[in-house]
Amino acid sequence: MSLRQKTVRVETHSVTVVRTNQRPIDLWCETCGTTTAMVTPERAAEMLETNPRAIYQHVERGNVHFIEAGAGELLICCESLGGETKVKALNSGEAQCL
Ligand SMILES: [Zn+2]
Repeated sequence: MSLRQKTVRVETHSVTVVRTNQRPIDLWCETCGTTTAMVTPERAAEMLETNPRAIYQHVERGNVHFIEAGAGELLICCESLGGETKVKALNSGEAQCL
């Protein structure tokens, strides 16, 4: 499946990206129709207390908004991660989306 290929490639590519993109980036989300905080799949996985593969599954299913940055890198719309995610993130006191 292309999903697996993309996952491997992005994870490899993200070794550097994750470090430089710890904080959300404000970018335009077409689905939201506004500027929202965007995070890397790895960061989204941390916020969901899951692994990046689960995030890619959400992407494939259309459960979350995302944009494709350069080099096929995905950025996930925090708004689309939903309320329960925010609650978890806020509870952790660390992975704030906004
Ligand atoms: Zn969105």
